[in-house]
Amino acid sequence: AKIKDVDFVKSSNRPKDCPKDDRPEFAMLGRSNVGKSSLINFLVRKKEVALTSKKPGKTQLINHFLVNKSWYIVDLPGYGFANAPESARMDWSSFTKGYFLNRETLVSVLLLIDASVPPQKIDLDCANWLGRNNMSMTFVFTKCDKMKGGKGRRPDENIRNFLELIKENYRQHPPWIMTSSVTGLGRDELLFHMSQLRNY
Ligand code: GDP
Repeated sequence: AKIKDVDFVKSSNRPKDCPKDDRPEFAMLGRSNVGKSSLINFLVRKKEVALTSKKPGKTQLINHFLVNKSWYIVDLPGYGFANAPESARMDWSSFTKGYFLNRETLVSVLLLIDASVPPQKIDLDCANWLGRNNMSMTFVFTKCDKMKGGKGRRPDENIRNFLELIKENYRQHPPWIMTSSVTGLGRDELLFHMSQLRNY
């Protein structure tokens, strides 16, 4: 599951503008500040990658990155800006839902959840919506170096509570992975997990 090269392909502002080839893709989704850019950079070990999507004007776009010329990492707009007006939040949701429901090459949604805080309503809503719509899901807990009990690999109560709270909306419990872009925890596991899903 080695990453040899990563190329920024394009930013799209509508699902139908996304690349039209058949390459499999993984969508990265999460609250703004969850650590999505850090996670993408840490996965591909290139600083400039997720910076592209942080440039002004690109944060509300669907950004496609081609990995090893064979599969995509898709950086979706972050949700839950604390001060966003209601109308902006609604836009986010119809825009992103359109992408999820219509993107046939989507292998799995990687929903990023900040392990350093207790379960947040907006994350639970998002996880529950994806579960009810039978999306293939992987929960990626970020900032696990900040878990209570230190840098251990055992999930603390934030993670256990989150998994408990979303249970009823999933027929099968989605896979979940603990990561830290600070310590490197979870990188190999996540890359391996994605390679298995691609070959499935
Ligand atoms: P984004 O808005 O989701 O793209 O989040 P960023 O990647 O910009 O990260 C938001 C903040 O969280 C930054 O201050 C990062 O330094 C911090 N951060 C990101 N990942 C981690 C992590 O694994 N551990 C810790 N302790 N902090 C992190």
